Amino acid sequence: MALLRIIVEPDPRYGQVGPALRQKAEPITEITDEIRQLAADMHETMIDAIGIGLAAPQIGVLQRIIVIHLPEDYDEGEPARTLTLINPEVVKAGGREAAYEGCLSFPDLIGEVERYGWVIMKAQDLDGNNVRFRARGSLARALQHEIDHLDGVLFFDRMDDLSDLFYVETEEPAEEESGSEANPVTA
Ligand code: ZN
Repeated sequence: MALLRIIVEPDPRYGQVGPALRQKAEPITEITDEIRQLAADMHETMIDAIGIGLAAPQIGVLQRIIVIHLPEDYDEGEPARTLTLINPEVVKAGGREAAYEGCLSFPDLIGEVERYGWVIMKAQDLDGNNVRFRARGSLARALQHEIDHLDGVLFFDRMDDLSDLFYVETEEPAEEESGSEANPVTA
């Protein structure tokens, strides 16, 4: 296995976000050994970077593959989830929830993003099997964040006002929202 270099871009308030993270990734038509190796390397890279998700465009590969790792109790009472999803799609979604979110490509930058509270996903696994499942909470959020990466969409594109972005270590969000800020989804 190998650590991959995650593409890091400047704070969008002060610098131009380059084209690398703005491209649309291509569907994967065949799950080769190369794809399996890529998935293993992406998992290793995500864990090393202390993220809970990573999409292939973040390491410069324009293919529709994402990895997710949520430790046990990331959302209280939820089991650990480790996923590799090929060609993931949201087929149904509902509810709207706002929560703090960051991105491994914009280190330490956090913003409050409204997303679907639950999603029904379809994808293929690394054996080429079709999988379909329901997700909610941080898992649903991470999945939506990663699928956005496959389409060149970044988390702050979904915020009304970029001036609401802040750095996790140096600034405090409004007091009444401090609960969810403690554990921003970084993916
Ligand atoms: Zn991200």
